[in-house]
Amino acid sequence: MAKYEFDMIVIGGGAAGLTAAGLAANFGAKTMMVEAEKLGGDCTWTGCIPSKTLLKAGKVARQIRDAGKYGLIDGEPNIDFKKVMQHVDEVRKEVYEDADRPEIFEDMGIEVVHGKAAFEDDRTIRIIGKEGSERKVSSKKFIIATGAKAFVPNIPGLDEVEYLTNESLFEIEKLPRELIIIGGGPIGTEMSQAFVNLGSKVTVVDMAPQIMGNDDRELVGILREELEKQGVKYELNASVQKVERNGTEIHVQVERDGVSRIIKGDALLMATGRKANTSGLNLEAVGVKTENGNVIVNESCRTNKSHIYAAGDVTGRYQFTHMSDHMAKIAATKALLKFVPMKIEKNMVSWVTFTEPELAHVGKTEQQLRDAGEKFEVYRFPYSKIDRALAEGETIGLVKIFAKKLSGKILGATAVGAHAGEFISEYALAIKNGVSMRGIADTIHPYPSWGLGARRAADQWYIKNQSEWSVKLIKAVFGYRGEVPDFSDPDRIV
Ligand SMILES: Cc1cc2nc3c(=O)[nH]c(=O)nc-3n(C[C@H](O)[C@H](O)[C@H](O)COP(=O)(O)OP(=O)(O)OC[C@H]3O[C@@H](n4cnc5c(N)ncnc54)[C@H](O)[C@@H]3O)c2cc1C
Repeated sequence: MAKYEFDMIVIGGGAAGLTAAGLAANFGAKTMMVEAEKLGGDCTWTGCIPSKTLLKAGKVARQIRDAGKYGLIDGEPNIDFKKVMQHVDEVRKEVYEDADRPEIFEDMGIEVVHGKAAFEDDRTIRIIGKEGSERKVSSKKFIIATGAKAFVPNIPGLDEVEYLTNESLFEIEKLPRELIIIGGGPIGTEMSQAFVNLGSKVTVVDMAPQIMGNDDRELVGILREELEKQGVKYELNASVQKVERNGTEIHVQVERDGVSRIIKGDALLMATGRKANTSGLNLEAVGVKTENGNVIVNESCRTNKSHIYAAGDVTGRYQFTHMSDHMAKIAATKALLKFVPMKIEKNMVSWVTFTEPELAHVGKTEQQLRDAGEKFEVYRFPYSKIDRALAEGETIGLVKIFAKKLSGKILGATAVGAHAGEFISEYALAIKNGVSMRGIADTIHPYPSWGLGARRAADQWYIKNQSEWSVKLIKAVFGYRGEVPDFSDPDRIV
């Protein structure tokens, strides 16, 4: 008789857990997946999907307002917020039905269990069902994929007001008149645009001097300018002193340069970071090490216990769905097939903030490269030179590629502008497969696709490598009589 009931137990059924359990079953492991709430996790229910759906509703509202620029009759959109939120909910359910519901995984041979899991010992978990049922199961291997939740700092008075987080935001039925968002990271920034477009007044408060601290300063500046034009207000370099309810209003007292002021609103969204879901897992008792609440893993997603792995937001690393998925593949493969060489891709981490304009990045940032003393060139290409952007009236934007001067090896790329996330995907493919700037520049892209912008950005490598002496050499060899072009302008793009 087998020593353990299962070969693999995956705790958590979000982006990481679903991938890990599916892969484990595909490897022939007897697999259980335990989920405390609903399969799909943050991404489907309280993260990517509802936020992108809400952003789209806001985008359509703005297109109605801006229709005049395309020669159409513009106007103030009639927004039925309750219906917008119903639509958001329908889309979540569609995604769940399509990809996350238990039957899909049960058909793969996985036992899907609803309940909250905690370790009893390092080979056994206890699962408490919602109705109070209890079950103990043992397994040879485990993958912890319990994700993260909103981190809310200790602010005096905050507990006395009804504030929102991403867990409650998509359940509201009434459009806030004046929304205060504390936190100018990706979640706060996306939601500031969605709500301002839907008709709320929005103020973003952050203690940092600029929003989107992990992104390229220049590109963030372009995004912020656009968001300000659209109506988002900022209180930066501002530390929140206290929060108070005053009748129907919420007052947030901030201090900047020693001066206090009160920001008033009728709703408050806390977008102040994420905190790993490890507290109820009893990890201390089984000796799995954590740091600041995050499960510590090595490059193979293994914890300090050789049969326990972790993937996704619970590790505190790159909290994105695609990275959770990537880590889950590594965790399941390494846990079950041990010798397959796989490790977390650190050189091509990518992310996109789905505002308009989008802000996207892959690979090393300019700052990381400078800190590492790397020699590289910055190849820049503005959206105003992309014909498709002109045709669609989306000329605000800039692509920056960081690459080696001679070989054209791409180290990183970052872009702000329409469809920037798609540009970045092409550069992600290039970085992963060693395709150089030349490789992209020499690839035919259809005209006038957005993708052609990615190629034209790569053309910059050819352009910047042109020099007077090479033209003089050509002239001398072939006897040509034309002028030597002026290559002195460092910003030339043709
Ligand atoms: C507003 C918002 C927008 C976002 N937008 C994007 C985006 O556009 N692109 C992107 O890449 N990422 C985005 N993210 C991040 C993305 O949602 C997460 O990175 C991703 O969902 C993490 O997946 P996960 O499987 O690690 O965790 P989760 O999806 O959180 O899944 C963990 C699951 O474990 C369950 N669980 C927890 N504890 C237990 C327990 N003890 N027993 C059993 N089950 C348990 C939870 O109920 C949950 O279902 C966004 C996040 C937010 C909040």
